Formats: sequence, C-alpha cells, structure tokens
Amino acid sequence: SSTLRLILGDQLNASHSWFREKNPHCIYLIAELKQETGYVRHHVQKVCGFFLAMQAFAAALEKAGHRVIYLTLDDTADCSSLPQLLDRVIEEQAIGSFEFQRPDEYRLLEQLRHYAADLDLPSREVDTEHFLLPFDELSKEFKADTAHRMEAFYRRMRKRHDILLENGEPVGGQWNFDKENRESLKPEDLEQLPEPLLLANDASQVLKRLERHQVETFGTAQQPLIWPISRSQALDLLNYFCEHLLPNFGRFQDAMTRQTQQRWSLYHSRLSFALNAKMLHPLQVIRQAIAAREANPQRINLAQLEGFVRQILGWREFVRGIYWANMPGYESLNALAADRKLPAYFWSGDTQMSCMQESLGQSLEYAYAHHIQRLMVIGNFCLIAGIDPDEVDEWYLGVYVDAIQWVELPNTRGMSQFADGGLLASKAYAGSGQYISRMSDYCKGCHYRVSQKTGPRSCPFNSLYWDFMLRHRERFELNPRVAMLYRNWDRQSEESRTAILDQAKSYLSRLESL
Ligand code: FAD
Ligand code: SF4
Repeated sequence: SSTLRLILGDQLNASHSWFREKNPHCIYLIAELKQETGYVRHHVQKVCGFFLAMQAFAAALEKAGHRVIYLTLDDTADCSSLPQLLDRVIEEQAIGSFEFQRPDEYRLLEQLRHYAADLDLPSREVDTEHFLLPFDELSKEFKADTAHRMEAFYRRMRKRHDILLENGEPVGGQWNFDKENRESLKPEDLEQLPEPLLLANDASQVLKRLERHQVETFGTAQQPLIWPISRSQALDLLNYFCEHLLPNFGRFQDAMTRQTQQRWSLYHSRLSFALNAKMLHPLQVIRQAIAAREANPQRINLAQLEGFVRQILGWREFVRGIYWANMPGYESLNALAADRKLPAYFWSGDTQMSCMQESLGQSLEYAYAHHIQRLMVIGNFCLIAGIDPDEVDEWYLGVYVDAIQWVELPNTRGMSQFADGGLLASKAYAGSGQYISRMSDYCKGCHYRVSQKTGPRSCPFNSLYWDFMLRHRERFELNPRVAMLYRNWDRQSEESRTAILDQAKSYLSRLESL
C-alpha cells in the first residue's frame, strides 16, 4: 500500500530529503483548503501567492517523476477541515501510512499531531529541514516567560554557522553595524533608487476560484501577480537583490519616502514570501549575499552585508524561538491592557495622517510594507493609541504576503505592541512624529503639523506618544534608557503638560476620523 505525504502551502522546499528518491508507492498531497483561506481574512495577493506557488511546486514535483495529487478549492469545497480532507484521500487512495512535515504554526501542529495520534495507520512527523536552529534545540535557547535578547543569540548563530567570522572573531572587528544603518533619503538619493523586480504570474484562475467559493479577501488583486511563485523566480529576486539592492541595503534600511510610486520597496529584498514559503533556504540567501560582497567589496561594504545577514540569521530565527517557547499563551498576551478598536482606515488607507495613508495604502496595494513602516508607523500608531493587540494581530496576519503566525505574532504582539511585557524587546517601539519626520518625507504636505504637539492640526503622534508614555510610566520608568525622557517631561510647565494630554484625549476620542 502507499504512503501519503502531506505538503502544506509554506513547505515548498524542493531540497527536502523526501524528494531525493522517487518512490511509486509515495503520494504527495498538496491542497487548496477553505480552512486555510478562512482562519483570518487575508490579502488577496497572499492567497494568490500561496496557491500559485503550491501549484507550481506540485507541477515541478510531478515533472521530476513523483506522484502528486493537487487539489484546488473546487475539489476540496466539501471538506471543512484538513483532517476531513485527509480522511477522504486516505480512503480513496487506499493509503497504508501517513507522513507530514512539522508545521511551523502552532494551530496546524496541534491539528496534525492530534490527527496522526487518532489515525489507525502508522504515521510519522519529519522536520522541514529549513531553519538554522533545529526545532529540538529551540528549548535550549529559549525559555517560556523569559526575556531574551536578539544580539546575544545572533552572535551564537554566527559562530554556530561560521558566518562572517575570521579566526573566531567577527569580520571587521565588530558584530553589529546597526549604527551605520540609519540614513534617511536625500533628494539625490531618490533619483538613484532602483525599481523593484516585479514578476508577472497569471493569477486569473485562482481569482476566479476565490470568487466561485466566496473566499473573503481584501486589498488590491494585482493581476498579474508580482510575487515569486517558484524557486527559479525566487532566485531571480535574490540575484536582483545582490546586484542592485544590497550595496545600499543597510544604509537606507530605516528610511521611508512617499516620492517613490514605482520604487516602493527601496533597497529591501522582498524575499520574505519566498523564504517563508521555503522556496529559498536561509543559508543559501546568506551565502549568496556574502559571495556578492566577496566578488565586489568596493561596491558592497561590510555594514550593508552584516545588516542583511543579521535580519535572517538573527531576527528571523530569534522570533521563531520566542514563538515556540511561549505558545499557545503568547497569542493572547496583552501586558499593556490595550483595548481600543482598530480604526476603519486600516482597511481603506483613508486617513489624513500622511505617514499612515502611505504605509497603509502601500500595504493594501502590494501586500507589502518594509520593516520600519510596519514597526514605526503603523505599529507605533497602534501602540500609542492603545489598540487591542488581538485586532492588531489579525490585521497584520492578514495583510502581508509573508505573514505566517510564527513570524507575524512575535513581531506584532511582541516587538511592535509590547504586549508580551518585554520578552522579545527591551523597550517599547514608541515614537513621536519627530522620528517619522527624521526618517521620511511623509510629514511634508501632511494635513497635520509635525512641529506641533497641541492644536487642531498638531501631529497626532506627538500627543499620543506622551499620553502613552505617561499611561505606562510606572513600567517604563524602571528602564534607565527611558528614565531620562520622563525627567524632561517633568521639567515642562504644568500648563503645557496638561495641554498635550488634553490634545491626546481629544484625538483618542475620535481615532476613527484622524
Ligand atoms: P528585508 O528588509 O529585505 O530583510 C531581509 C529578510 O530578513 C526578510 O525577508 C525576512 O526574512 C528577514 N527579516 C527581517 N526582519 C525580520 C524580523 N523582524 N523578523 C523576522 N524576519 C525578519 N516578517 C515576516 O516574514 N512575516 C510577517 O508576518 C512579519 N510581520 C511583521 C509585523 C511587524 C509589526 C513588524 C514590525 C515586522 C514584521 N515582519 C514580518 C518582519 C519584517 O518587517 C519583514 O520580514 C520584512 O519587512 C519583509 O520584507 P523584505 O523581505 O523586503 O525584508
Ligand atoms: Fe505622520 Fe504626523 Fe508626519 Fe503627518 S505630521 S506624516 S501624522 S508623523
């Protein structure tokens, strides 16, 4: 009898040891399922990206001589859940054993483990062979309810994988060049910005299926789809990055601009979708970036390369560790007791705050925003306005093409909303309009005035920032990095402090109309 091997939408790893041998008794199952389109409302490009990539992966496996069953929404419409579908396929194909790759999402891991435990057939769970810290070692590095810091972890990972080291010491004499990664874009820099490499994948059939099965999505459809759906397209994107974007990656990593209709991703790689769907292996991405610098050290300096390596070898693996150490409790943490509703403009981009309009608008149009837009504009707004982290999470999990819970949740609830009370980050990423003004040109031409803290046209970020800092004074004052801010606040006149807090109150009472 045959073995059924399940491949989930984010398990498109062509180098997995499963595929080393062709076995006629092995059937691979890849299926579009309503369960996966419905656990949260997704951006339409995210659903199209996953379905097209799954289809391309199935076709490639088949071409390589494997037996594959690909089921579309049309075929699975009567299966409300993954276990139901598995039961059906196991019966239809007279399957004798079941195997699955360990899901990276807690929800799916629980579901499949329960399913396998209750099954009358032998079953096996195997690793996805993707991450740089093995799953069984996560618990050695990460403890539940314990604060961890990325930098120390990152150094251990550099050593473990021998990345950017020279005789055991960091190349260039320091581990981290983050301080060199904080430039904003000047007018002359804007002219040099390269356009993003956009792919052109026909999504028309998937779009029709989504309509036929009344799958609720949001955002702009973008037909053809601009995201990579195969390993070879993902490699094109990686090559493009190493050639055109890496030379300035670190330098403008935190910069934001509205002047870039065609150049909305600046020097970012846009590789997150390909990485998270496992079309690319993180070590391959890192090695290729290192090779690009070795081939052209004049053009790509160490700070650019190290900044990029840190995101993948450091942050990406680190947030995964925080996730697994703290799930399932992590998804309901709300340390700051934030409880306001997410304003409607998160779904339309229709707000007078130019920074939010640009960042939300871009997210809705391309299912993408870069890290600082996610963290210091949209996330910062939710943090200081005290939006319920459940609502914030739901939005982030739906909107971005790369959003899978293991990476979305720690970034959103932890790093951006501080709802874990500091397990992931040592301080809350709260900022006033000054930060946004320094790192972008959003404030020029905004309805609001970034120089003002009070008054009807004052920048909402300014007063909301102080209201937030004072709401949580007891907690944050303990941090010596923040204590200074409170001393400056106390030095202001009573009158000006009251005016700022009154302004915040007024904005909070009409968040929907900002
Ligand atoms: P680049 O800037 O080119 O960086 C290269 C790669 O490094 C990325 O592709 C990504 O794989 C990795 N990386 C960088 N920063 C992080 C990080 N903080 N955590 C994990 N990996 C990182 N990333 C996701 O992949 N999925 C998410 O759902 C997601 N949600 C986020 C939510 C919030 C509130 C914040 C602040 C960040 C989130 N991130 C998420 C992290 C980061 O913003 C994205 O990985 C990045 O913007 C993707 O674009 P890029 O590929 O062009 O990244
Ligand atoms: Fe955003 Fe305030 Fe600047 Fe307007 S003035 S773009 S609201 S930071």
